[in-house]
Formats: sequence, structure tokens, C-alpha cells
Amino acid sequence: MGPEARKHIRQCWGCDCDGESHEGGTRPLGAQKYVVDIMAATIEKLTGYRPPTCPWRAMYDPLVGPVIRAARMADRGLGHLATDQDPPAILVDALGVYLDARENVRNHDDAEEHKERMAKLEARAKKGK
Ligand SMILES: [Zn+2]
Repeated sequence: MGPEARKHIRQCWGCDCDGESHEGGTRPLGAQKYVVDIMAATIEKLTGYRPPTCPWRAMYDPLVGPVIRAARMADRGLGHLATDQDPPAILVDALGVYLDARENVRNHDDAEEHKERMAKLEARAKKGK
């Protein structure tokens, strides 16, 4: 993907991750904008939050890195090592939001995989008749 295509996607998201604000500017229309709108709606449906920028922009938030590290450590039963003894409430809250969102996405992905498997089995069963 070339720089013009990436710029177009940032404009569709209204994202400033290219160092320039696209807020209040005209957002492009067309197929790419349609895809971005579907992605934003799907993220909102699964996580409860509509991303105000492209999803990758969230990685610049100083809270996101510690939350992901804490979640990874918690998956191994070592969450207490990823935070101070008395972690700030905002980190605890953010961790809860992240873990809920991650679980919702995993459940969604599992359900989609199950649907695909069932559709393949049904198609195979129909062929066999
Ligand atoms: Zn961005």
C-alpha cells in the first residue's frame, strides 16, 4: 500500500496519526470510507466503544501499553508482577475494559469459526445425498 492510499485511509478514519489533524475536514467517500465505517461499527459492537481514530492510534495512548502488558501477565497468573502493589484506579478500570473487549472479540471469532465449520459440514452432507 502506497503513501497516498495510507493517507486516504487516515482521512476516512479522521485520524491524525500522520501528524496532521483531519478533524473537521471533509472525509472522503467511496469504497474505502464504506469499509472504514463497517470496521468502526464492528469494533463498537464488539467492544462497546467506537474508535474516534484509526484503531492503531490507540497504541500511542500511554495507558494502552501497561494494560496490554498487565493482561498478558495476568493470562499467565502473574498479573501482580505487571503492576505496583496499589495500581492506579485508571489502570485497573482500563484493564477491565480491555479484558471484556478481548473476551467479546474472542467469543465473536469463535462463533464465526463455528458457523463456518457448520456451513462446510452442511455443504458436504448435501453433496453426499
Ligand atoms: Zn491513525
